[in-house]
Amino acid sequence: MMQAMDIWGNPSSLHGHGRKAKVQLELSRRRIASLLEVLPAEIYFTSGATESANWVFYMAQKAGIKTVITSQIEHKATLEAIRHFSARDNRVEYTHLKHDGNYDLQHIEELIVSAEKPVLVSLLWINNELGNITRISEVSKICRIYDALLYIDGAQAIGKYQADFHLADFIAGSAHKFYGPKGTGFLFVNRRVQKKFPLIAGGGQERSLRGGTESTILIPGMAAALEYSVNQSSDMLKRLGHLSKQLMEHLQPLNVICNGPDVFSDYRYPGIVNISIPQESDTGRLLFALDMANVAVSAGSACNSGSLKPSHVISHLYPERAKVAHVRVSMGLDTTLEEVRQFADILTRLLKT
Ligand code: PLP
Repeated sequence: MMQAMDIWGNPSSLHGHGRKAKVQLELSRRRIASLLEVLPAEIYFTSGATESANWVFYMAQKAGIKTVITSQIEHKATLEAIRHFSARDNRVEYTHLKHDGNYDLQHIEELIVSAEKPVLVSLLWINNELGNITRISEVSKICRIYDALLYIDGAQAIGKYQADFHLADFIAGSAHKFYGPKGTGFLFVNRRVQKKFPLIAGGGQERSLRGGTESTILIPGMAAALEYSVNQSSDMLKRLGHLSKQLMEHLQPLNVICNGPDVFSDYRYPGIVNISIPQESDTGRLLFALDMANVAVSAGSACNSGSLKPSHVISHLYPERAKVAHVRVSMGLDTTLEEVRQFADILTRLLKT
């Protein structure tokens, strides 16, 4: 990113400085596309997964999609974008969920069969509050049989897990979820998608599908971060698997309940551990006390936790658990076993006071 700051031209300008910036931008696009095994022309730069979700549902509305199938435990970026762009004659159907928050694929198939066509299915690759991993190949198989479009919110998974992107029609990513800068991201749009419309109209950038000067600082930063994250992912996932099991072991004396899939499940991202704490009813009080003890955790999605309302995910899946405190612990590349032990000790002490 520091090197990129020396290139100050506008990538849309025709002079030498502009051409230099354009080269930088296109090299970043190629680097990202190559890491994700897609074509550079299938990557569109955006400000992140929220914008990408808004763009997808805007395109869906313009393309005449009649039914959107999703779930009640999506990220607010998806739920609100769907609400915002649903026209009066569109239907939104919510799939049943398993007790651990996994999608009920059979119900998704039933919903597609009975839906007014065309259909767009919108799901998370990794649930950002619970860590469930969706098997994209299984969802894609169902969508392809019935010719439904598939949008995947990949914000939590990209850089950590690999999948064949061409199994979906749209996949959103945010750089800050893979150690890149905040405020940049992308939308993968499968080359097979015919009808594309700009959400942000403007000066012809991003092949006239997303107006506005591209950030020649943030985008190279995102490309470098993705490479770094992909290279670290297999070691990181192994380490996080160990840390999440250790965390639950340390918390066992507190009788906390693990929300979402079991920590031993293979289809669970181990960097997210979500717990309900029966002996504490006030999530806000607990988060404040943890913050005072220099522990940064949240109740739900960071984008939503400013409000301190019970998480919509926990309230929907486990209404009885929403009455007690719940905490989402996120761990990453730098988290150590010592920090996990410290967190368990601090939580134990706070619950006693
Ligand atoms: N989707 C998921 C699963 C997320 O975790 C997030 C943000 O953290 C978003 C979407 C929104 O990303 P951004 O705020 O970068 O637009």
